Amino acid sequence: MKPANIMRVDLRSDTVTQPTPAMRAAMLAAPLGDDVFAGDPSVNALQEKIAALLGFEAALFMPTGTQSNLCAILAHCQRGDEYIVGQFAHCYRWEGGGAAVLGSVQPQPLNHQSDGSLLLADIEAAIKPDDAHFARTRLLALENTLGGKLLPFDYVQQATELARAKGLSRHLDGARIFNAAVAQAATGGANGGDVFLEARRIAQCFDSVSVCFSKGLGAPVGSVLCGSREFLARAHRIRKMAGGGMRQSGLLAAAASYALDHHVLRLADDHALAQRLADGLRDLPGLVVETPQSNIVFVDLVDEARARADELIPFLAARGILVTGLYRLRFVTHLDLDAAGIAYTLAVMREFFRA
Ligand SMILES: *Cc1c(COP(=O)(O)O)cnc(C)c1O
Repeated sequence: MKPANIMRVDLRSDTVTQPTPAMRAAMLAAPLGDDVFAGDPSVNALQEKIAALLGFEAALFMPTGTQSNLCAILAHCQRGDEYIVGQFAHCYRWEGGGAAVLGSVQPQPLNHQSDGSLLLADIEAAIKPDDAHFARTRLLALENTLGGKLLPFDYVQQATELARAKGLSRHLDGARIFNAAVAQAATGGANGGDVFLEARRIAQCFDSVSVCFSKGLGAPVGSVLCGSREFLARAHRIRKMAGGGMRQSGLLAAAASYALDHHVLRLADDHALAQRLADGLRDLPGLVVETPQSNIVFVDLVDEARARADELIPFLAARGILVTGLYRLRFVTHLDLDAAGIAYTLAVMREFFRA
């Protein structure tokens, strides 16, 4: 039987956070209008704020990151074009094949290196010559962070420069760009550790960037797509077709604005908790723990731990701890977790592996 006062520790994703009381207050106080008439002041303010922050002409608020990536790919590509993308990129693997289904845009997936990058030589080799046999290669899409990994900044520069030199557009799925910026700033960066300048430095390597507010930033809903006005005019038409024209969406934009003002720098706390969790798990038998670079810890179960894998998730769940995976577990830290939750998780994991 479950004790009534069981601690609940939800490590499935950084999407599970509840809006804080201050974020809810900001939502309720937001001035609203009809965004389909471009008349929602809170949406407009968010779009201007994020565009200025990341150094783009404009931005467009979207209900989801999936729709934001879809609008980006379809605004960069025509039917019969293709985009180069990683095998594990969200906008290839986890979005229902939307670019192909809805846009007749073909993905050209490439294998990742262990640091999450795509080899420059592989990118170059995947760019098709102008020949009727081939789809037209139009776009390189990268993701940062990818599976919690920070792409090395030198690599981001080289890959996007290669794409530019070959006439491709460059899109960043920056669902977690602020996690990337926090991680990059912590390693020194070029800007004395300024997180917002690091975010901008990453973003400026690309023609378009999609940012999620519903992940580590802790908003309930929403993403933005940033780019030039001309690009976003095309994306806006596609957003309408995809059913993403929202009305008094300033309620949601206000949460996103609040998150930009208050929840970016605190991502460092999530990264520290992920590190603490990884350090604690490393002592347990049969666990191979990847050193986290941001807020996601991957743990592979081997040997005796692997043999008991299907008992582990229910054991944790019965004690209020939610995690995804089976032989490869994923733990994600976020705004609604604290050191006590991590300590409790480690204690329960130790209990399982002692048994
Ligand atoms: C979550 C996520 C998205 C978008 O997801 P939605 O659930 O559609 O908002 C896109 N890319 C990455 C890398 C993500 O983690």
